[in-house]
Amino acid sequence: MKRLPALLMALLLTGCAGLRIDDSHRSQNQDSRVLFLVMHYTVGNFESSLKTLTEPSSAPVSSHYLVSEDPVRIYRLVDESRRAWHAGPSYWKGHAGLNASSIGIEIVNTGGTRRPDGGWDFKPFPPEQIEAVVALTKDIVARHKIRPERIVGHGEIQPRSKQDPGPLFPWKRLAEEGLIPWPDEALVAQLKAQYEQQLPDLAWFQAKLGEHGFAPAHSADLEETLDAYTRDQLIAFQMRYRPARYDGVPDAETAALLDACTRPGGLKLLKPAERVPYTSRY
Ligand SMILES: [Zn+2]
Repeated sequence: MKRLPALLMALLLTGCAGLRIDDSHRSQNQDSRVLFLVMHYTVGNFESSLKTLTEPSSAPVSSHYLVSEDPVRIYRLVDESRRAWHAGPSYWKGHAGLNASSIGIEIVNTGGTRRPDGGWDFKPFPPEQIEAVVALTKDIVARHKIRPERIVGHGEIQPRSKQDPGPLFPWKRLAEEGLIPWPDEALVAQLKAQYEQQLPDLAWFQAKLGEHGFAPAHSADLEETLDAYTRDQLIAFQMRYRPARYDGVPDAETAALLDACTRPGGLKLLKPAERVPYTSRY
C-alpha cells in the first residue's frame, strides 16, 4: 500500500474545515440515551418477519433485535446507537414516542388468532427462545442500566392497537431473574380480600393505571372512547400480571395488583439487584 503524504493524512484527520475538538475534559453527569426495553412478537414466521423488519415498505418498521424460534438465533438488525421503528405512537411513565429512547426486541411468534367464540388463542414461546430473550435482556440492561420498571411490552405502551408480546410471554420469569419488579404476593392477597368487599369505581382504576405508567386518560379527544381506552389498558396490565384472565374487566384482583404496583414497597425485585445506582432523575 502506498503511503499517504503527511499533509493529506493531516487533512483527513482534522477534516477540511480544520475542526478540532478537545476531549480532555469529560463530564461524569451522563447516561445512556436508552431508557426503555420494549418486547414484541412479530405476528409471522421468520421469513416474513425478517422481510417486514428489514425491507422498505409503505409503512416501514424495524427493531434492534429479532429472536428466531427454529433454530433459535439472535439477529441484530439495527445498531443500538441508532433508532429502530418499533414502538409507534407510545407512552410510558411520562415519556412519549419511545422509539427515540428504547431498544426493541422482536420475538418470532405468530401471535393471537381469534376463535369463533370471540376469544383468542396465542402461540406459546419455545423455552429455548425465551432463554435467548432473557440472556439478551440481561446483556442490554447491564450495558444501558435500564431500570426494572422500564422493561415493557408493546401492548403496555400502545394498548389501543397492540397486544404483544401477549399473555403467554413469561413476565414472571423475567421477575425471577431480577430483571423486572413483581407485586408482593402477600400484599396482593390481602388487598384482594379488601377489594372483594368493595370494588373501587372506574375513576380509581383510571387514576391507578396512570400512576402505574399508562398514558393518562384525560385528553378531550378520548372522552368518547374512554371506556374502551381504559379496558385496553386493563387488558395490557392483566396480560402481564394476571395472564389467566385478561378480559379488561376491573375486578378485585386487578384492583389489588394495581394498588400493589403503585404503593411504596408494593413492587419488589425477587432477586437481589446487581445494579449500579441510577444517578439520573430522568
Ligand atoms: Zn410490537
